[in-house]
Amino acid sequence: MEALDTPVLDNHLHLDPRHGRGIDAVDDFRRLGGTHLLVVNKPSWHLDVEASEGEDFRAVFEETITTVEEASEALPGRAWPVLGVHPGLVSRLVDERDFSPAEARDLMQAGLDVAAEYVRAGDALALKSGRPHYDVPDAVWEASNDVMRHAFSLGAELDCAVQLHTEASDDLTAVAAWAEDAGIPRKKVVKHYAGGRLAGPTPSVMSEKDRLETAVERGEPFLMETDFVDDADRPGAVLGPKTVPRRVRWMLDEGWEDAVETAHVETPKDVYGIDTRATLSR
Ligand SMILES: [Zn+2]
Repeated sequence: MEALDTPVLDNHLHLDPRHGRGIDAVDDFRRLGGTHLLVVNKPSWHLDVEASEGEDFRAVFEETITTVEEASEALPGRAWPVLGVHPGLVSRLVDERDFSPAEARDLMQAGLDVAAEYVRAGDALALKSGRPHYDVPDAVWEASNDVMRHAFSLGAELDCAVQLHTEASDDLTAVAAWAEDAGIPRKKVVKHYAGGRLAGPTPSVMSEKDRLETAVERGEPFLMETDFVDDADRPGAVLGPKTVPRRVRWMLDEGWEDAVETAHVETPKDVYGIDTRATLSR
């Protein structure tokens, strides 16, 4: 496979050596020309953690950090952890474990406080938060928005980006305004699983050709991702680990060098303060 003359970053995927392919998936990514990864911790309950206090999330974060260190060794660039609390946890707590929405909020915010410790120590790059992508009762929605706003206040304090899992939308200007109220520039709020067009946060575009074409035509900052879940029980649930480098090849064939530079060099630098060129060693 011909090497690509550019860094190639998958902005959001999961690696789970216990239940999935782990570093084998990283090797696939690298062989196709992939260089850098942002690895998001799996939802806590997928790693058999039924949290009842913030400290319980630490095992999830530590496992992710260990996997990221192994991934970095397998890459010509490197990987970074993105840590947080999956917004779907609120439903698990309220519907299955008899938490009130306020108790669920407090636990999820405490989990984010622990994630923030890793960012503060330089052991994680960014935080992950958001709100359910499905309909929930008003009190659960409000609790979820409070969790997300807590993530924004932590992000402001740490000067780090916040990745969001939200409902499908091409207009999250209201959420971006909350981030700005908290003190984070809206560009440092990243909507994961985005389409090619998004008002408010920076879109992390799911790497399907039609979404990417839209992002390229729009000409605004964007990132690319697969949301690979690395779960042997759900092999085709999302895009595979080879997808981002494959799509970069396609984009270069189309003559979209500027868009590749935007998604893999400039936007990562603006959003996260990372230099994907300087960290490319081989
Ligand atoms: Zn994900």
